[in-house]
Amino acid sequence: MQSVAPSHALVTAREELDHRLIRAAYRRLLRALGKHPMAAEDKKQVREAFEFAMKAHSSQRRKSGEPYITHPLEVARICFEEIGLGPTAVVAAILHDTVEDTPVELADVHAHFGPKIAKIVDGLTKLDGLYNVESPQAENFKKVLSTLLDDVRVILIKMADRLHNLRTIDVMSRTKQLKIAAETSYIYAPLAHRLGLYNLKSEFTDLCLKINEPELYEEIGEKLRQTQKDRNKFINDFIRPLKNVIDPLGIPYKIYGRPKSVSSIANKIKTKRVAFEEVYDLFAVRIVLDVPVEKEKSACWLVYSIVTDVHRPIPERLKDWITTPKSNGYESLHTTVIGPGGRYVEVQIRSRRMDEIAEKGFAAHWKYKDIGTMQTVYDHWFDNIRDVLETPHNDAIEFLNDFKSNLYGEEVYVYTPKGEMRVLPKGATVLDFAFSIHTELGCHATAFKVNNKLVPMGQQLANGDQVVVHVNRNQKPTEDWLKLVVTGKARSRIRAALKEEQKKLADMGREILERKLKNNKLEADENVDLLMRSLGYKTRSDLYQAIGEGKVDVAQNLREFDIERGRLVERRAEQPEPAPREILSKPGQDTARAAEGILINGEPGRQYHYSLANCCSPVHGDEIFAYVTASSGVRIHRANCPNAEHLMVNHGYRILKAEWSDLVSDTFTAELLIQGIDSGPGVIERLSHHISTKLGVNITSFSIHGHQGTFEGRIGLVVNNKAHLNLIIKALEQLSGISAVQRTDTPAV
Ligand code: MN
Repeated sequence: MQSVAPSHALVTAREELDHRLIRAAYRRLLRALGKHPMAAEDKKQVREAFEFAMKAHSSQRRKSGEPYITHPLEVARICFEEIGLGPTAVVAAILHDTVEDTPVELADVHAHFGPKIAKIVDGLTKLDGLYNVESPQAENFKKVLSTLLDDVRVILIKMADRLHNLRTIDVMSRTKQLKIAAETSYIYAPLAHRLGLYNLKSEFTDLCLKINEPELYEEIGEKLRQTQKDRNKFINDFIRPLKNVIDPLGIPYKIYGRPKSVSSIANKIKTKRVAFEEVYDLFAVRIVLDVPVEKEKSACWLVYSIVTDVHRPIPERLKDWITTPKSNGYESLHTTVIGPGGRYVEVQIRSRRMDEIAEKGFAAHWKYKDIGTMQTVYDHWFDNIRDVLETPHNDAIEFLNDFKSNLYGEEVYVYTPKGEMRVLPKGATVLDFAFSIHTELGCHATAFKVNNKLVPMGQQLANGDQVVVHVNRNQKPTEDWLKLVVTGKARSRIRAALKEEQKKLADMGREILERKLKNNKLEADENVDLLMRSLGYKTRSDLYQAIGEGKVDVAQNLREFDIERGRLVERRAEQPEPAPREILSKPGQDTARAAEGILINGEPGRQYHYSLANCCSPVHGDEIFAYVTASSGVRIHRANCPNAEHLMVNHGYRILKAEWSDLVSDTFTAELLIQGIDSGPGVIERLSHHISTKLGVNITSFSIHGHQGTFEGRIGLVVNNKAHLNLIIKALEQLSGISAVQRTDTPAV
């Protein structure tokens, strides 16, 4: 019986550790809560929720080994401290996984904590349940949005949940990490942006970048650390003369330099194709004034005039979101000025109230405004969501694309003939405007006047435009209209109208066909299917519609058949199969080429008939995944392929794990984008000589364009693997006159 003692001791040691972890997490939450006054009743409920959840999760552990309860406690803390939610949300957050993951029933939560909290927990359970089914994320997004309309707190708690899971994602498998990142950047980051939760949004995008492109993330982080000292010195030089003038005003204020997020710097590097050193706005300077609401505006403009007296402003960079806040409630005054050494610096001026709303968004509004006022901040947007949700969509992806177009971006302010202001996303057209007023107005719109001048239907709106819409009863939307609008509402309404029209045509086609069959004494049912297959249509309604549109002549087609005992019989013995349609992508490279090189789900890839995707041209050593296409086998993509997010989000169930086997002795084609200073015709020769002779690498394609003393070239190369490719990049970067060398994602055709 000697063995009992040590194992018992082990158990207690573990229990002891568990308790310490749980206590620490709970204390952390209480410390956060303690920073704000809270009613005794609320405190009691937090305690009860903790005990309730603790009991429910008692035997569960997180993947990292910690007791499970630490997760909901941390989610609750994030809700309170980082999102600014109140006690109800804190209690719901502590309980958020109980119904989903433990034997606890919703009725138990209801009995203990009342209907309000039970409803939120129910919303969270339903949202969570979704991620376990293999349904396209677009369906999930739809669900997320309808939840949003019920009670915004459900989504906000869900975001806190997601944030904590992302912060602790290291223990997850790589495949799972990529999927979570794809979903986050597809759904939660845009939603956080739209709700004005800027802090959350930038942490989401940073963490996604860390998962998707760890090398780039590390590189930028490292460079930010290296340049910290210089940056601080610059910021101090910039701020000092400002302080000298603002201090005597006697307004309490804070002024500081604020670094931009890693992902926004990464974005600049990628979209502007510049090096880290050339990204000038690595930070913004923020001035936060502590003034009462009624003095906010005048104080902000006073400070603005001081800033622009000290540092010369760039006039077109003034952005005034104080007079007209963004539709997510963001208020601030931005200007860009020329600082020491001619460097551009963005300065943000705002009050403390505006600052809190800018950082925490939605929840902060509750604090500063009564619910009535706050509703108006989001109402317009919520109306739009309701609208899009109520429009029937063919498939969820169509819906999602309609909706997503409305999440990001700036806005334009335009006016109706009566002088009412309308807010539309930047890039919206006069046709979008018509649909934003009323569906009927959009569908029957024939002509538009902007500021009294006739303009085309696709004319983009500018701030201050006054728009008049002329209608005609007989006007009908066409397919082309879809290209003239950007808002989800307009797009979904046009689609609905087109579908209605198609239905009419199909009904007509069906009548024609059935009449003709009847005239020939033919039974409708099986003969329709026979005709459908023989003409290569997938569904009956496709066939009906084609007949309705006059694309198919029924009489003529019937003549090509024999009729035997009430049935159509194909005259020709062999009817060619209609060619399968390639839906998802173009065929990839030759399958045989790298046949042994890849393991798919741990097995030799050959049996999957895989090929390398053309969109990102993976080479040996790249991080990759496999995607099962609809009709042409399995395609191998790079994990950072521009299409990866789309594929994972919408077709996650078709993603397979893929890795390179060590046996590869093959070569791959990769493409480099090379930029530099044009030193005359010699540059092509110098480059190609260096690559083929000095580096001994074969060139498969070469194109180069000069522009005002600079050039940009695309060179296709045959390489052995990623390491080889990196060596080539390093070597080319050393050449004089070359400013940047990087791998392209989309090869020129
Ligand atoms: Mn959770």
